[in-house]
Amino acid sequence: MLQIENKDRFGKVAADALAKIELTVKDARMKKRWINAIAKATAEIEENGVFMNYQEDDHSLIIWSQKSNNIYTANGICQCRAFEQGSPCFHRAAARLVRLYLEPESVSTLTPEAKEVPYLKNTKEPIRVEKYGSVRLPIYN
Ligand SMILES: [Zn+2]
Repeated sequence: MLQIENKDRFGKVAADALAKIELTVKDARMKKRWINAIAKATAEIEENGVFMNYQEDDHSLIIWSQKSNNIYTANGICQCRAFEQGSPCFHRAAARLVRLYLEPESVSTLTPEAKEVPYLKNTKEPIRVEKYGSVRLPIYN
């Protein structure tokens, strides 16, 4: 099972992931889908981490979906229908969030000094802040 013990760090990982989507995904529809996937992943990890397991060796996240009763193994790829259709899915977003959360070397980019890292400097103000699980995430449009 997966347990998020450092909620503060996890929140920063999620906010960082959203900022990256904002800056790197050009297509508006795709951007929205990734933002939704990350938001869902954030809540799912917190609420249903008991049904997830992270594999350190290949950085994959095993997710037992209670809704479909399928087991998904996500890293860069996934077995779900959304992935088949070329869409972002929360499984892949979750795998990435967990990987960044657990990787010690990503800490350096998540310290307060990260504000000075150009790609994290958001010139735009978030239009609102939404709460997913216990994590508050800025939403850009
Ligand atoms: Zn998937």
